[in-house]
Amino acid sequence: MPDYEVHEHDVLVIGAGGSGLRAAIEASAQGLSVGLVSKSLLGKAHTVMAEGGVAAALANVDERDNWEVHFCDTMKGGKMLNNWRMAQLHAQEAPDCVRELERWGAVFDRTQEGKILQRAFGGHTYKRLCHVGDRTGLEMIRTLQDHSVHQGMSVYMECTISRLLKDGDKIAGAFGYFRDDGRYVLFKAKAVILATGGVGRIYPITSNSWEYTADGQGLAYDAGADLIDMEFVQFHPTGMVWPPGVRGLLVTEAVRGEGGILRNNKKERFMFNYLPESTRKDYADDEAEAERWLADTLSGKLKTEHKRPPELSTRDNVARAIYTEVKEGRGSEHGGVYLDIAYQPADRVKKKLPSMYHQFKDLADVDITAVPMEVGPTMHYIMGGIRVDADTAETRVPGLFAAGECSGGMHGSNRLGGNSLSDLIVFGRRAGRGAADYVRKVGTAPKVDEAEVQHALNEMEAPFARNGSSPYELQKEMYKIMSEHVGIFREEKELKIGIEKLADLRKRVKEVSTKGTKAYNPGWHLCRDLQNMIIACEAIARSALSRTESRGAHSRLDYTELDEKQGHENTSVFKEGDEMKLTKTHLPEMPQELKSLFEKKEPAHA
Ligand SMILES: Cc1cc2nc3c(=O)[nH]c(=O)nc-3n(C[C@H](O)[C@H](O)[C@H](O)COP(=O)(O)OP(=O)(O)OC[C@H]3O[C@@H](n4cnc5c(N)ncnc54)[C@H](O)[C@@H]3O)c2cc1C
Repeated sequence: MPDYEVHEHDVLVIGAGGSGLRAAIEASAQGLSVGLVSKSLLGKAHTVMAEGGVAAALANVDERDNWEVHFCDTMKGGKMLNNWRMAQLHAQEAPDCVRELERWGAVFDRTQEGKILQRAFGGHTYKRLCHVGDRTGLEMIRTLQDHSVHQGMSVYMECTISRLLKDGDKIAGAFGYFRDDGRYVLFKAKAVILATGGVGRIYPITSNSWEYTADGQGLAYDAGADLIDMEFVQFHPTGMVWPPGVRGLLVTEAVRGEGGILRNNKKERFMFNYLPESTRKDYADDEAEAERWLADTLSGKLKTEHKRPPELSTRDNVARAIYTEVKEGRGSEHGGVYLDIAYQPADRVKKKLPSMYHQFKDLADVDITAVPMEVGPTMHYIMGGIRVDADTAETRVPGLFAAGECSGGMHGSNRLGGNSLSDLIVFGRRAGRGAADYVRKVGTAPKVDEAEVQHALNEMEAPFARNGSSPYELQKEMYKIMSEHVGIFREEKELKIGIEKLADLRKRVKEVSTKGTKAYNPGWHLCRDLQNMIIACEAIARSALSRTESRGAHSRLDYTELDEKQGHENTSVFKEGDEMKLTKTHLPEMPQELKSLFEKKEPAHA
């Protein structure tokens, strides 16, 4: 049997995106020894791809904004299924976390007076997204990375964690391998923070990077944590649809925030027809009103009294609208709809949306300053994830913490744009603190069980010894099942078929095989990744079947309405033996002082 190297830390952070870096900085600032593991190179985490901005009620652009409005927007966006405590902490602490980034060197776009500039985004009452053109994630990662390097911590790059290890019910460390040469590694740790991001790679059309293979969700589930609200998968309304090689790549919501207009092949501005009754009053309901908002935006007027254009409705709503337009035959040439920003001065488009300009020019040979883009829904984000305590980010496994996209609860049934980057820094910081407090409390290091380590090692060696299916074949099957049976619109019959097929696939995934050596062997990596992905697929499909209503990003063709009763229930899945069990848990009662925020006079809209 091959050997493995051993490292020991107080806190092991798995993931070097926004949440992992912020957590590692915090734990290290508390004087603890921190190990930071990333399966890609430092600086390449998915957060780097974030474009539109980070939501924080700084009120730099519109003084009417404050944490209370942000809290209400977030809860309304999530259709009140959010963990209200998380939404409260998020809205209250995001401004401080953004200012902290600025102090650490992040260079945001500025207002004339030199304050951080904020832009409009879907579902946000006021202009709230702090941004750096359309490259906000890049600046955020650069800043956090610079700061963490100076903070002092051990970084393990291109290292994938394949198992969490426990001492009794407590976390004791993690086992993994280096992707470049396949050597194994054991990390002993008193606390582990999962910050591994999302699950996007379980769908064939996604805006997500290769790293999003549901690792954190799978590792936590296997270690005894529960996953909540996994049915809520966000399909971003605007991904590229052409050419095939870039299908799914994100077209940032900032395009619509800067005035981008959606039209079908009849040149109709169809979003006016899709505004839900409950939010209709918040949006312009004719071209003239929408034009007034646009005129203000184009003239550089930051604060506008006019109602938001219908394109800035929430993502779930815009995605369903586009899907319906295409399905009913009003789509564009390549199966999307048109998003037009070309009517604006070319200089403005290039200044406000530089990445979008280059993305279309370089990848599709389309000049977005001259012609409309073609866009369609793409799997983008998962609202569900590992259940955590709002204040400490601890899971139900002692010593195991989670933050960022791999955790659940904060966004309810639908996330507002910009609320992920703020989630990362608010709950990354809290997870770092929570883990540090835990380490101080627990005192002595837990014992790592050698048999568990050997089991983790054998599991990684096994695909070379087998003669089973190719992991790529099974990945293709998984894509087909998820897009055909567990897509944007769901219904009982299809979900049941999907669940059956996934159960069969789960058995076969355990038998996949690979060839060659362990050096740079993506087929070998996929053998292990598939196991995590299947857990996420099953969790989504089973949770979706159990929610017999349509809420936020979860759309049932057979239950098209909101059901008041289910609005108080989280779906939770956990492992029992080899089975996935599902249960419903009640949302805790929201305190009166938060409830009363929703009764305040509706603010005028920006
Ligand atoms: C194109 C795009 C644009 C977006 N724009 C915005 C935006 O403007 N505003 C906004 O709020 N949100 C945006 N989002 C969403 C947001 O970017 C993500 O939700 C967020 O970056 C997730 O951060 P994270 O820290 O949770 O994970 P990540 O940044 O993905 O980091 C995950 C880390 O975990 C590591 N990892 C994963 N598995 C393992 C393993 N098994 N072992 C070791 N390491 C592992 C990875 O290598 C990586 O370092 C966007 C998303 C996309 C796809």
